[in-house]
Amino acid sequence: MQTLRASKLGLDPNELSPAILDVIDTLSAAGYDAYIVGGGVRDLLLGLHPKDFDAVTNATPQQIRDVFGKRCRIIGRRFELAHVYSGRDMIEVATFRAPPRRPSTTAAGMITRDNVWGNIKQDYSRRDFTINALYYQPRKDQVLDFCEGVSDLRARLIRFLGNPTIRFEEDPVRMLRILRFAAKLGFAIDPEIIAVLKPALTQLLRDVSPHRLYDESQKMFSGGYLAPLLPLLEQYHVWPILFADVKAHITPLIQRAADNTDARIKAGKSINPAFFYAILLWQPMLDRVAQLQAQNMASFEAWTQAGVDVLRRQQKHTAIPRFAEVFIREIWELQPRLIQPKARQVPALAAHPRFRAGFDFLLLREQSGDPATQGMGEWWHNYQNLSNDDEREHAIKLLNRMQLRQRRQNIAALAGQPNAELSAEQAVSNGNTDVPTIDVPPTRAARRRQARANQVVESPEIIDLVDAELTGVESTRESVGSRRAQAPRRKRRPRDLSQVFMGPYQ
Ligand code: ATP
Ligand code: MG
Repeated sequence: MQTLRASKLGLDPNELSPAILDVIDTLSAAGYDAYIVGGGVRDLLLGLHPKDFDAVTNATPQQIRDVFGKRCRIIGRRFELAHVYSGRDMIEVATFRAPPRRPSTTAAGMITRDNVWGNIKQDYSRRDFTINALYYQPRKDQVLDFCEGVSDLRARLIRFLGNPTIRFEEDPVRMLRILRFAAKLGFAIDPEIIAVLKPALTQLLRDVSPHRLYDESQKMFSGGYLAPLLPLLEQYHVWPILFADVKAHITPLIQRAADNTDARIKAGKSINPAFFYAILLWQPMLDRVAQLQAQNMASFEAWTQAGVDVLRRQQKHTAIPRFAEVFIREIWELQPRLIQPKARQVPALAAHPRFRAGFDFLLLREQSGDPATQGMGEWWHNYQNLSNDDEREHAIKLLNRMQLRQRRQNIAALAGQPNAELSAEQAVSNGNTDVPTIDVPPTRAARRRQARANQVVESPEIIDLVDAELTGVESTRESVGSRRAQAPRRKRRPRDLSQVFMGPYQ
């Protein structure tokens, strides 16, 4: 064991959050040993900004609760630990652990209960990687290094403490952690680990609860290093275990969404990890729609049912919670509506609570070369940048014209080629009769505008197209002209005041 001077390694207590210092100081004042451990120390030593700090102590969870009182909650069963609240922050405080006793493991060696308390020497060897097993005591200016963690940090190497196969058997989630850290830090993986990371071993992940795997997937999607992580998931055979229905291949859409997610995180913008699930499962979703339609299910019903089916299957692997499921399905269900919106629905769609996510999804599809979006990503982008109602109204009018032209072309194409098929999304939006519309009562301003618009005679071009669509035959200018000629005109007459009833109040 090496005791290193923390300040010599470039560590400074001023870089620590007040919350972690509060936890370390309070436990020390109560007579316990307390250290910062794990990712916080690792990232500080690398000059990165840690996302949080974890503490470890020789106090048991019950003793931690006695010290912090109401500020402390004990959580976990398999791995019991204390959550200590300090100001707005929460610090995870673990107790030194000793190796688990035999009955706490499954036949395959997986640790099912890990609550045997021990000392710091036993604790370090229970941690996963050498770079995660450094103990920092800021008030003593000390870093305790039991396993050459600092030299592995310098060598940019991820190395297990102990035999890799046994460590994976104890907790298969370590396979995901290793790939996550390799992607985040850009470190090499110890060849001894790579030698055992084979498909047979990754099967162990099937024994891990889908809830824990969902949590891990969230960490993967929201760490800001999704783009370098995805090829590792593919290369080391864990993709098919986590996302069994998604072909282990990084499509242009998946790549662009990963880049975009990472860029948002770097810019400090919020992300919803469920969004990336919507991206990953998009192709299975389209495939399922096609399958259901082939079984003669109506377009809209197939679209809704496919969303349910695809997510049910995914939930067997990673337990996507209900709120995330609803979010994903809403994004999918918005796609055909955004691609072929009814003109009068455009404002309501733009005000839909999930519009932003649905639009971002559409734009990513378009930018990654998906022709099925029909350029509507750009249209919605421009629409949102219009500055007033008149401009928006005009844009909708143009869209309406374009759609009618498009539909006419579709009808012609289908008539010319009896076997031609519309895309799944076109089918949903073309068969608009069975797509429930979004009912938003028009605003007073909109009603006024509508009334004004009704007074304006429709442009001949629009009437042409409407007629063509309704009858399938192009109407002629004469017929439009004659229709206009027949339209009755109201004459203004001066008011005859003698006819006005004068009541008792006038
Ligand atoms: P992050 O930056 O993602 O928080 P971290 O290393 O801090 O990385 P945590 O999940 O916060 O990861 O865990 C804190 C510490 O607990 C780890 O650094 C490691 O020492 C230990 N640890 C966590 N999970 C495991 C595990 N499955 N097996 C062994 N040790 C673990
Ligand atoms: Mg951490």
